[in-house]
Parts: sequence; structure tokens; C-alpha cells
Amino acid sequence: MTNPLLDTSSLPRFADISPEHVLPALSELIAAHRQKLDALLDASSHPDFDTLVAPLEEMEHELSRVWSPVSHLQGVLGSREWRDAYNAALPLLTEYGTELSQNVRLQQAYVGVDKGLPENASKAQKTVIEHALRDFRLAGVDLPESDKARFKDIMQQLASTQAAFEHNIQDASDAWTLHIDDESELAGLPVHALTRAKTEAQKCDRPGLLLTLDYPTYHAVMTHAESRDLRETLYQAWSTRASDQGDNGSWDNSDNIESILALRYEAARLVGFDNYAEFSLATKMAVSTDEVINFLRDLASHTRASARKELAELEAFAAFTLSPWDIAFYFEKLKQKKYSISNEELRQYFSAQTAVEGLFELAGRLYGVTINVQDDIATWHDDVCYYTVYDESGALIGGFYTDLYARSGKRSGAWVDECVGRKNLGGEATSPVGYLVCNFPPPDDRHDSLLTHDDVVTLFHEFGHMLHHLLTRIDYPSIAGINGVAWDAVELPSQFMENFAWNYDVLLGCSSHATTGEPLPRPLFDRLLDSRHAGAAMAMMRQLEFALFDFRLHAEYEPRQNFDVLEILDKVRAEMSLVVHPAYNRLPHGFSHIFAGGYAAGYYSYKWAEVLAADAFGAFEEAGIFDRETAKRFRNEILEVGGSRDIMQAYVAFRGRKPKIDALLRQNGIACT
Ligand SMILES: [Zn+2]
Repeated sequence: MTNPLLDTSSLPRFADISPEHVLPALSELIAAHRQKLDALLDASSHPDFDTLVAPLEEMEHELSRVWSPVSHLQGVLGSREWRDAYNAALPLLTEYGTELSQNVRLQQAYVGVDKGLPENASKAQKTVIEHALRDFRLAGVDLPESDKARFKDIMQQLASTQAAFEHNIQDASDAWTLHIDDESELAGLPVHALTRAKTEAQKCDRPGLLLTLDYPTYHAVMTHAESRDLRETLYQAWSTRASDQGDNGSWDNSDNIESILALRYEAARLVGFDNYAEFSLATKMAVSTDEVINFLRDLASHTRASARKELAELEAFAAFTLSPWDIAFYFEKLKQKKYSISNEELRQYFSAQTAVEGLFELAGRLYGVTINVQDDIATWHDDVCYYTVYDESGALIGGFYTDLYARSGKRSGAWVDECVGRKNLGGEATSPVGYLVCNFPPPDDRHDSLLTHDDVVTLFHEFGHMLHHLLTRIDYPSIAGINGVAWDAVELPSQFMENFAWNYDVLLGCSSHATTGEPLPRPLFDRLLDSRHAGAAMAMMRQLEFALFDFRLHAEYEPRQNFDVLEILDKVRAEMSLVVHPAYNRLPHGFSHIFAGGYAAGYYSYKWAEVLAADAFGAFEEAGIFDRETAKRFRNEILEVGGSRDIMQAYVAFRGRKPKIDALLRQNGIACT
């Protein structure tokens, strides 16, 4: 019987795939690819794009297609078996990846193809080669053999250490519970959170209620729990997850952090950079470490005074000096008082299902696409839906899965990932398919999952990534959709989409009251809009704190005995933070974006791309936010081009000029000086 993971004739066979398929599938595929590569290099001493690059693109496409369900399932199912299978196969993949980019013969062949490229070669073809040559250099292709071996070894260790970092956070979170005897201790908590806590207690045959450390629960307690002690307890549990201050030392990420930083530094130095921040910028839109640091400090200098004012107002309202676990709570209270608006009131209007439907309607209005649910597709969980996307002419564009609700074992946060990338090589085309994952509160017996407006914004954000993945017109997998896009511009399509979640017409389509079925009333929306700027400057400072910490850490790290990650954090907080964090706070230990995800020395990308996103949305505000011409230009110049084009050129083609910071400041209610 064939291994179902290797069956790439259609969508992944989720009903048949199990962890024991992973290692055999990867081993078999990589062995076959090694042979194919040798054959390609032997076949011709003067290869061209079609005889060398296209087959390699084909192989890359096949490999990521086989790997995608593995990486996805270990994240959304999180079972021991899936994780072990993932951890066992990861080294094969990493080893093969480095081997490819360190292959001198292959590099020379690309150099040859580049030289012989005909005048009329497409921009996309040129970019594929340009990126490949860059990546050879970044993997140390020209280094002496011993250094190359060391680089390869570092990549291996990094992959496994980063996975271990993420798993520690998941395990530490899953292991933490807080038993509550009496519901009165949870005063203030919204019904959905109470229901969840009761269900969790029932699951382990305990009386009373059980709080868990998933994000929806944490968020509910921080925002609503009247008990200051309870808020502090949850804050402490959350901010010490997987650290030396946490409950269980076996999940302490301290050593992982040290190893990851040391390995990244060593890799960067091996291939000729001063530090990892410089290495990171080699594939980004920003050109120098100074440019990034100045960008963050410039934003902070515009924002700081507004943020201080916000905090002063909040403290005057609370009538005492606030700790980190008070901010969200009093902020919610002040919002209720000032704008008579509460997340819980809004939540009644946004069920996950109506929000999704309204979002699809918006996509139709902007880009003429139709999105239909398809019931007969095998998935990995009952919560999952599959949708097919068609363009105006009725032609198939692609499809995507949604997995929206939090559950135990599932990685926290929200993200989009590639299931199948678009390709069109040698006349054989494949449509893109993606995964859209969130951690919204699970539906209960009476209701579908009810979302806060923030959740709706998150949904729009992720769907922006999905459109970027789906609407690409690029034929070569390495630069189609999100692939090959400068990392600091990756959040442009997603943050751009968030803006639509602040438009009344859009929200009308996204809302329906849980009991009355009524759409969002205009006065409530107006109050929501009034409250948009509330706390925006403080939130901006918080993001700048994360971004500057990440960037300075990777720019300043040195492999010496007394290098102290927390010391850098303290310095950054002295500059960026408005509240004092307790000494036990261990932000780095739970910061998977930079220690397990792809945001190392790249967290600034959120703010960087937000400038682009706000400024791009400005074009829609000027022309009318549903203007089809503007949408068409955005689709053609930004969404369709993937990584084939320099992002600044693409942006200027869309906007007619370079981006300005003003739109973002205005969007946050910060006066532009
Ligand atoms: Zn994003």
C-alpha cells in the first residue's frame, strides 16, 4: 500500500494520514529527490531555466506539499505521537535543505542559467534565480568544508531547539490549572468563560470550576475578573510559562533561549555577518540594523506622549498606580464608562459563523470571488470546514480549511499556513490551498462561538494572509503567494484587511445577535468606532517594546558567560514600557514568535508592514472603500505578485508614491507632528 502522505494527487488524505507515515514518507521522498538532483546535474553541462530551475521548483513544491500536513497536524492536534513524528522527521528536512543550498555544483549550475538567461526572461524567472543565488550565499556555499559542515549542524540544532521551545510552552500551559470551588470567586467573568471553566471541571470529574491557561481564558480573566488576586495569579502563570519562575522546571526554556541565540549568532558569523540581526535583514525590505532601530524609535517618539496621557487617564479612573494585571481590566471598565461599550455586549453580535459569512461577502465585493463550503472533504477535526474559492468567471482559484476554536493541545494564537502552493510548471498547474487557524472560544451547547470585536479583527487579519496565498498569479512555487516575500512586508495584506473590520457596512454583514438575530445597531457601532483609539498608543508602545527587544537582542548578542537576555529586556522596558513589570516576569520564555517562529530579528515587521497597510488603506478611503478599481490595483500589484517583485516597487505601482507614516498615526488617533 502506498503511503498516504506521498499521495499528492489531490488534498491531503487527513482520514488516512497518521504519525507512523511521517518518517517513511520523508525518507523516501528525500532519497528520490537526491537522485533526481544528481541526474539533473549530470544531464547537461549547460542547463537552462526549463531543464534545471523548473524541475527544482517542482521538487520544492512536492516536498513542501508532503511536509505541510505534518507540520500542520503537530500544531493543531498536538498529540504526543504527532509531535514525536514531527521531531523525528524535522532533522531529515533541515539536513536536506542545507545540503541543497550548500551544493556547489548546483550553485554553479544556477550561475550558468543566470548568465545564459534570454533577454526576454520574465521578471519572475529572474527573481527565482536571484533568490536562489542569495540563499546559496546565506547558507555558506563558498565556505571551506569544515565550516559548511558546522553550518549544517547549526541548522539541525536550531530546528530541534526551536521546536522544543514551542513544545515547552504548550506543555507548561496545558499542565496548569486552577481549581475554583465557588463561582463567586470568578465574579465579573463573562458567561462563555464560566461555561468553559465548568466544562473543564466536569471533564476531570471535579466539582466547581477549573481555569486553564489557554488564551481565551487568560484574556477573559485579565479583562473581566473583579478579583485582583485572581488576575495577578493568572498573569503570573502566563508570564512565567516555561521559565525558571514557572511551576515545573522541566519546561524551563532558559537553556533553549541561550542555545538558540548562540546558534543563530554563530551561523550569522560563519556566513559573514556581524550578528544575527544583519543576517535576518538580508531577506528583508529594511536595509540596515540602524534603519530598523531608528524606525522603531521614531514611532515611539511620536507615540509616547499620547500613551502617557492614556495611562494617566486610566490611573485617575482607577485611583491607584496600576500593575500589568490591572491594565486590561480598568481599560475595559473605562471603555464601558466613556463609550458605554463592552466586549461582552459586542460579542453577542458576532458569532464565528456570521463573521465568516460577512468576510466572504466582503471578499466578493472587493475581488469578485465566490467562496463555497464543501462538506465532502476529509479533515482532521469536527470543527474544521473546507471552502472552495472561484473567480468571477467561475474558474477555480483554490481552497482553504478553517479550524477556528481553541482546544487542549492546539498551538495558541492565530495563523495561516500553506497546504498546497500555487504552481504552473511545464503546463501542469496546481491551485493553492491553505489553512486558517484561530483559537476562538469553542461553541457551547446553546451558541456558536461568540467573538469579541478584537476576534473579528483577528479573523480579518488571517483572511488577508489567505487572500495573499490564494490570489497569487505566480507560476513558480518559491515566489508564489506568501513565499519569497520580504518578511517585513508579509503582514501588509493581513493588516490591510483589518481595516475593513472597522467599517459599518462590512460589520452589518458580519453580525447577527445571538438571541434576536438583529445586526449590529448603528449607535453601538458608532460607540465602537469612538473607542477605536482608546488605548491605541499604549498598545503601540507595547508592540514597540517587543520589537525593540527582539531586534536589540539579536543585534547585541555575544557568546559570553554573563550575557543576560533579561538585562536587554530591562533596558528596552526602561525606554518603551509605561508600567513596571514584576521581577518574575519572563517575557522571553513564552515569546515563540522570535524563538520558535520566523520572526527572529523580524518582530518589527508588524509595525513596518502596518505603516504600509494603513497607507494602502488610505487609497481605499480616498476612492471609497469598496472601489473595485482600487481593489483591482491592490490585487494586481500586491496580492498577485508574491515574492516576484521588489516590494517597494510593487507598493509604488499601487499607491503612486512611497509609503508615509502619517496614516498609521492617524489610525491610532496620534497627532502627527
Ligand atoms: Zn499575520
